[in-house]
Amino acid sequence: MEEIQALGLDVGSTTIKIVAVDLEGKMVWHLLEPAEPRVSEQVERFLKRAHEKSMQWQGGSTPERDGFPLVATGYGRKLVPQATRQVTEITCHAKGMYRELKHGGTLVDIGGQDSKVIGISPKGEVVDFAMNDKCAAGTGRFLENTANRLGVPVEEMGEVALSTLEEVAISSTCTVFAESEVVSMLAHGVAIEPILRGLHRALIKRIVAMVRTVGLTPPLMLSGGVVQNSAIPSMLAEETGEEIIVPSFPQLMGAYGAALIALLENNESS
Ligand code: ADP
Repeated sequence: MEEIQALGLDVGSTTIKIVAVDLEGKMVWHLLEPAEPRVSEQVERFLKRAHEKSMQWQGGSTPERDGFPLVATGYGRKLVPQATRQVTEITCHAKGMYRELKHGGTLVDIGGQDSKVIGISPKGEVVDFAMNDKCAAGTGRFLENTANRLGVPVEEMGEVALSTLEEVAISSTCTVFAESEVVSMLAHGVAIEPILRGLHRALIKRIVAMVRTVGLTPPLMLSGGVVQNSAIPSMLAEETGEEIIVPSFPQLMGAYGAALIALLENNESS
């Protein structure tokens, strides 16, 4: 029978994720929604859903305790007063990924408004990291802004970019200027596919530059919502020549790591 023992909540700039783990640290339930302006209300709703799920699994009986051990992470982690502890995304992503893949390497997380590179030792410790949360280039925003202009849904951008070998160079590194560049190309009759391929290339080059600042220890592992775009792993492999590993739920790795920390601390204190 499935049972919830601890929760991890990742309050990202674009999405909110909650993951529940059982006594062994296996992910047993999750929920993901776009982030709403009223974060506290949304968090409250997420916790209520976790409580309901637990009751359902327990055949309708209320859990013995008031709440589950809960660790909050992500950009908005400070907005979760219900959490036992707030832990940085760097620590949580590394923890979730190490448990999932059971080896070290270089982790690249590409989220909606930030990206990070984390060096993970063979024992799962964070050895180095770099984070970009100041500039939208190198994040999901870069593709989203331009996808709107191209009329291609975000979920389909990768496939469209990979559907051609033709590629136009995007010279602007800034998201706002890149968008103007795209508008001008469209006005000159350039096709959507090579533009999209060029946009992905620009994003990948940014990420590779960040990877170089930390150093690459293979394999290259990916997390974050943007890596569900099929062109990202494919073009990163092409650009670096390295093996790329994407876990089953790349967008949940931060929340999963947070839940594992909550579980561990609860076990240690009891
Ligand atoms: P954050 O933790 O910063 O809130 P996430 O890791 O949840 O961000 O990632 C959100 C980003 O992932 C958004 O920019 C969104 O466009 C992108 N994304 C989510 N699903 C997909 C998909 N299937 N294909 C391409 N991009 C996606």
